[in-house]
Amino acid sequence: MNAQQKQTVEKLLQDAGLPCSVHELAWTQPQEIPFSEGVRGMCAANRCGMYGKSWACPPGVGDWQLLRDECYAHSLALIFTTKHVLEDDFDIEGMQQAAQDHKQFNRTLSDLLEANGISCLIYGAGGCTLCAACTYPDAPCRYPSRAHRSMEACGIDVGALARQCGLKYNNGPLTVTYFSMLLFA
Ligand code: SF4
Repeated sequence: MNAQQKQTVEKLLQDAGLPCSVHELAWTQPQEIPFSEGVRGMCAANRCGMYGKSWACPPGVGDWQLLRDECYAHSLALIFTTKHVLEDDFDIEGMQQAAQDHKQFNRTLSDLLEANGISCLIYGAGGCTLCAACTYPDAPCRYPSRAHRSMEACGIDVGALARQCGLKYNNGPLTVTYFSMLLFA
């Protein structure tokens, strides 16, 4: 990816038509991204309720070591966050809306990148909610290129990655922060 393409990606990330805005971003080498079996193992506790529910979450998403190798085979990564303001500590609706907005951001961004001839893999936060009912495990994913995998589900230690890249993992009281990652060949 050349400097002009990087500029195009950064410009698209600031597109006014996106459902929320990028808070911070950092370019990094895919081989620097920290993966761990421990992070992946946390999914099995099913605290988010998405374990075994879609092709974008474990176990359907695949072996974490293969996912790590796939990541490391790319030449450039962009990590970005969106920051969302909550009304109070119990603003569950606000948290759910923030998660939805972040997912919609990734989908709209995916379309924008494609329209500009830029191909990449997009990883997001949380499970895939694209279809009303996921085909997992009975049939293949309906939209494999749009089923953005969760970073944690792939075994990425997002907290460590944020520290490495100088991005804030937590943006303070009454906010929620979501991470995404783009991988370029
Ligand atoms: S796109 Fe649809 S079928 Fe594929 S993982 Fe997401 S919800 Fe499941």
